[in-house]
Amino acid sequence: MPNKTTLNEKLELLIDGVWRQGSTGVTEDVINPATEEVIGILPHASTEDMDEALDAAEKAFIEWRNTSAWKRGDILKEAAKILRDRADHVAELLTLEQGKTLPESKGEVIRSVETIEWFAEEGKRAYGRIIPGRDNHSRNMMVTEPVGVVLSLTPWNFPIITPVRKMAAALAAGCTVIAKPSEETPATGIALARAFTDAGLPAGALNVVFGVPDTVSRHFIDSGRIRKLSFTGSIPVGKHLAALAAQHMIRCTFELGGHSPVLVFEDADVEDAAKQLAGFKFRNAGQVCISPTRFYVQDSVHDQFSKIFIDYAKSLNVGNGMDKDVQMGPLANSRRLDAMDEFVQDARDHGATIATGGKRMGNKGYFYEPTVMTEVPEEARIMNDEPFGPLAPIVRFSNIDDVIEQANRLPYGLASYSFTGSSKTAARVADALETGMVGINSVNVSLPETPFGGVKESGYGHECAIEGLEVYLNHKFITQVGT
Ligand code: NAD
Repeated sequence: MPNKTTLNEKLELLIDGVWRQGSTGVTEDVINPATEEVIGILPHASTEDMDEALDAAEKAFIEWRNTSAWKRGDILKEAAKILRDRADHVAELLTLEQGKTLPESKGEVIRSVETIEWFAEEGKRAYGRIIPGRDNHSRNMMVTEPVGVVLSLTPWNFPIITPVRKMAAALAAGCTVIAKPSEETPATGIALARAFTDAGLPAGALNVVFGVPDTVSRHFIDSGRIRKLSFTGSIPVGKHLAALAAQHMIRCTFELGGHSPVLVFEDADVEDAAKQLAGFKFRNAGQVCISPTRFYVQDSVHDQFSKIFIDYAKSLNVGNGMDKDVQMGPLANSRRLDAMDEFVQDARDHGATIATGGKRMGNKGYFYEPTVMTEVPEEARIMNDEPFGPLAPIVRFSNIDDVIEQANRLPYGLASYSFTGSSKTAARVADALETGMVGINSVNVSLPETPFGGVKESGYGHECAIEGLEVYLNHKFITQVGT
């Protein structure tokens, strides 16, 4: 039986195919958010370690880009198989360091396996194009080529699916990768990388480093040797990295925060909507960039919707994600606890009703009550800033034009949701909402085969789907005369 108070995975860096400690001995503690115990000691990479990772990734790129897409796909499929075989182990690491429930962790690992499998096949379809020449002697073509060394920077809320979307797509395209998973949830990223190395990925094709996030990202970006940056995280950090990357004209994908509006119309199946949405809201304790955030419910069904939603929140069994029957784990770090208190206090100050929840649970572990607020004014912070936690404000609306204006009011543009029984309303709303993804009578907007990405300040570029491979490819035009 693995010891449940420490991470059953060696915390190491991966540089040029070798798993090892950092060269300077600097480390940081990894904390279990359910117990606040130190469960691992994570090495930081030194400047020399990072330079070695760059050398290794550049060297490996020559071999990996010239490996056929079929062979690359075979290695990816083997990594997927290894990860599937280790799913229970990896899910346990994930819950221990991040907090979400074991079934949620297992679901995230399996979705990661599916994503690797999907890109293993899609890499074979990095097609070019033949463009008719202007005479019989010329041939015009566009060929795709991998962009080069990729820097992957990922956060703590989904410690495996987020790096997988970057690594699997980049490797399938023929790029090599330097990944910095979150220092707060490192074991899951390490276990993922081990699946790739154990599958026979050549040394240097994937490197894993940890450190002080700003020092690491600056060092790699300023090296001038990174050709593609993919970052998932907050909007302020995304803007900061975009400015750094601009100095070197690095291609970027930014998956940033969201503030997803939900529009529930009176002709919807209200019970189904409330249950789907409440289940989705409290998944991963609300620490989800596409989490439904502002619930606009039409007057005549507002009370019915609110009651079902509030009852669901009250019924949730909150506790250590390792325990059976727990439905919501702790928040991932103490910063989120403080942030929740500030959002709730601010909502109260603005006259909102806290229908259920609204405070920390106990004083050990970062547990917060599933919280639902009603009568929340537009000026309250919760209606404007990303809460990234288990807080749900429900407000009323009366007509479609007003609610669309409300939904599009913020600079965020990641996901939105609408529930209606009318195809006319569904089409109108789907067209009008300014977000990268729209769920109609559904919250399933994130699959390996469908494009995931935001508009406005939620970022640019896509992950998953054919678009998620495309961002790791250059288009080269070749014209040839005299063939
Ligand atoms: P944060 O904004 O400091 O960090 C967000 C992520 O970016 C973390 O993983 C962090 O390690 C990383 N990061 C920070 N500075 C960096 C840098 N200079 N270079 C590279 N990586 C860097 O704050 P936080 O407390 O971790 O999270 C707070 C907010 O971030 C949340 O409220 C939420 O809005 C947002 N967030 C969004 C996502 C997402 O999936 N879009 C994920 C995590 C956090």
